[in-house]
Parts: sequence; structure tokens; C-alpha cells
Amino acid sequence: MEYEPVIGLEIHAELATASKMFCRCKNDPDETGPNKNVCPVCLAHPGTLPVANEDAIRKVIAVGLALGAEVPDKSQFDRKNYFYPDLPKGYQISQYEHPLTRGGFITLASGKKVRITRVHLEEDTGSLIHGSPSASSGQPATLVDFNRAGIPLMELVTEPDLRSAKEAREAAEELQLIFQYVGASRARMQKGEMRVEANVSVRQKGAKEFGTKVELKNINSFKFVASAIEYEIKRQIKLIENGEKIEQQTRGWDEAKQETFLQRSKESAHDYRYFPEPDLPPLDVAHIREELKHHLPELPVQKRARFKEQYGLDGEAIELFVRDKKMAEFFEETVSELQAWLASDGKETEPRNAYKLVRNYMLSDLSRALDEKNIAFDDMKADPENFAELITLVAEKKISSRGAKDLLAHMVELGGDPHEIAKDKDLFQTSDSGELEAIVKKVIEDNASAVVEYKAGKQNALQFLVGQAMKASRGKGNPETIREILAKSL
Ligand SMILES: [Zn+2]
Repeated sequence: MEYEPVIGLEIHAELATASKMFCRCKNDPDETGPNKNVCPVCLAHPGTLPVANEDAIRKVIAVGLALGAEVPDKSQFDRKNYFYPDLPKGYQISQYEHPLTRGGFITLASGKKVRITRVHLEEDTGSLIHGSPSASSGQPATLVDFNRAGIPLMELVTEPDLRSAKEAREAAEELQLIFQYVGASRARMQKGEMRVEANVSVRQKGAKEFGTKVELKNINSFKFVASAIEYEIKRQIKLIENGEKIEQQTRGWDEAKQETFLQRSKESAHDYRYFPEPDLPPLDVAHIREELKHHLPELPVQKRARFKEQYGLDGEAIELFVRDKKMAEFFEETVSELQAWLASDGKETEPRNAYKLVRNYMLSDLSRALDEKNIAFDDMKADPENFAELITLVAEKKISSRGAKDLLAHMVELGGDPHEIAKDKDLFQTSDSGELEAIVKKVIEDNASAVVEYKAGKQNALQFLVGQAMKASRGKGNPETIREILAKSL
């Protein structure tokens, strides 16, 4: 029998606001000292009142607009009641009936549209640290850190439109990009700023009804999301084929064992007793929506189209630049520097060749130089102006590719003007035949057997001798000149 997986995602992302959702405590996910960013409001002391953070509301609306969602005029906060030690109020302020945005979609590379159900705004909980020694007894205990309590949290729910682990991963990655592009969230999975849950069920291909869904929770990387879904699809198919029933459960992912495991079964499902939050007035967001509509930044989907159209780039380069904003900016700035240079020199060059040259240099030589020096792209010292100049030096054959490599290694670490560095390091190619003739003479003397081979008709031997002479000139000899002198001398 053929089966079809049905997958929907629930994504939580912490918003990159300066302060928390309902108080003025700092929102700092990098704070490592426990309970530093707390106050009576986020600790739920009696008599305190929440005040909604407008910036958080704006960020969720921006995400909604980027998704093409409907942003109703009116929205409202609700209380979601449950008890847990990381939740000091005994309820979470969330949204139920009237989320900030409804609908919208994203488009996968295949062209498939994935519908979004809603995006709402709530507050994060504190975090529990299990197994630390207690201050009073020294025995292992669970400690609670309220730094995270009250950080604005956005929850996005998709329709069950995804049909494979690969599609689910792609959708989650695209949503991460959108959150980052509109500046809503840094969405770093490893920091817990973005958390992905997947609802997975399996049904007979062609069936209309959904199978029983299993919730996969607490997965902290895109790779694990895909692995967990992949595993879960197989597990459910096996159960069906064995004639067993799939139970509605929440399961986690065990990376070491490469399998999902039971966290809780649905019998313990909560009734949250939602009701409108009495301490906060209903929201009227029409003016925010109208204002933001006209100020949305370029979105990933638009950038892909522009990089293809404007620069004629290939899919690999486009995806790299769309995912790395800094690299994309570096590319565009280098291109404009290079174009200025081409124009000033009155050179008639097809601009697409310049784009391609920059693309190739960035993806090969530059990334290799960074790897070798173990420097992150963001930390390198070479700027677009210097980088464009380096490319022109190579294009004009003023330095050899080996010389360019040395230059680049210096530039990524220390920065600087490539002309100056090339002068200092004596890297300019020389066509000075006097100097090169002396080098060639010595190479011929030192490599008698290769000379014999060449004279016996072996062309490889000439290539070898050119290589030796290049080496002796420390890469600055112009290979064409060397070849000519060699051929003449032999
Ligand atoms: Zn606070």
C-alpha cells in the first residue's frame, strides 16, 4: 500500500525587542547570569499590571504582512491557564480568539505554496535547570531562571500542507529567513530563539481524512527536524502495517539513538480555560498595519528574483547570498566598485562578466582563504573596495593567481590596499626579461634531465620548467614571458 505523510508546523520565535513583553526588563537572550533581568511584573508579584510592548506587536504584524496575511483591525490578549514552575503567574498571556494575523503563505523552491493558519503574540516562560546542587542542601535540585519569563514570543502555525521531511525543513528555514529579514527575530535555533514543532500523521495515498497526529517537540536544529519527521513517518507506517493503532502523543527526538521517544500521551491534555485578559485593553492595530505596509524590507523571495534578474546568478550563489545578508551586501558592493573601475577605465566589458567574476572569487578563492585562516566571513578585514581592486589586479594580469592567493590571505586577516601589499611583498608580475632570463638560465642548468626530455619531444617537460621558473620567481614572473624565454633558450 502507498502512504502519504501529512505534516504541519508550529513555530515559536522570540522577538528581538529591547525589552520584555509586559514590563521594562531587558530582553537579552545572551544573559548568562540567572535571574538578572527580572522585576515584580515578570515575577508576577501581586498588584502588578502588564503594559503591552508596542514594538513586539509591530514585529508580529510585519511578519504577517511579509506572509501576505490578513491583519484584522482588532486583536486581543487572552489568558491561557495552567500551572508549571517556570510560569510564575499560573497563566500565560497569549492570544486565542483574535490573533494579530490570519492566513498568508510561503512558497517553496518547487513552487508549492504552504498556507499559514495564524501568527499570534504571547510571552515566553522561564527556564528550569535540572540537576544543579541546591544552595541549602547541596543535593541535586531543579533551579528556575526567570530571565526568559516574559520575553515576547511569536507563535506561527501552518496548515497541514507539507508532504515530506524535506519540505518541512525547507518551510522552517524559509520562515526563519522571513523572521530575520523583517527584523522580527534573530531566530537562532541553537539559542532557542526559534523552536520548531511538527505535527506528523500518515494516511493512505488519496485518502481524504487525516490519520492520528503525533506532535514532535523540543527539536533544536533543522537537521534534527528533518531526521525526526523522517523517523516518525516510518514508525507510523510500520504500526499501520502491523495492524496497530497510532496513539495521539507528544514525542521528542533522541539524536544519539536516531529515534523519536514518547514524552506524554494525549490523556494528559490540558483545558486551558482561555478568557480575555482583563488587565490589558483590546488592541486596535489598523494604523500600525497601514504604516508598515509601506515599509516592508526586501523579502527573501524578492531578493532571489532580483539576484537572478539583475546579476544573472546561478541557484547556488543566489541561495548563499539570500541566506547570508553580509555576504550579499559584500557581493553587491564589490560589484559596484568593480563597475566604477571598469567605467573609469573606459573598458567595454559585459557587466555580467564582472558579476560572475566577483561571484566566483567569493565562492572559491575568498572562502578558501577564510577557511585556511579559520576566519569567519563577518570577522574578515578585507572590504569590498580592496576586494574589487584585487580582482582587477588579477584580471589585468598584474599579479599571478598564486600572488593573488598570498594577497588574499594577507587581506582577510589584516585588511589593506592590495596595491600597497603587492608592492611590499614584491608580488607584481614582472615581464622584465633581464631578470627572468637569469632565472630561466639557472632553471635550465638545474634541470638537465627535463631539458633532455623536452628536446626528445616531451611537451610536459616544458610545462615543468615553466613551473620551476615561476617558483624561482616566487610567483611574480609572468608565465607567458617565461615560456617565451624558455622556448627561445632551449
Ligand atoms: Zn520584568
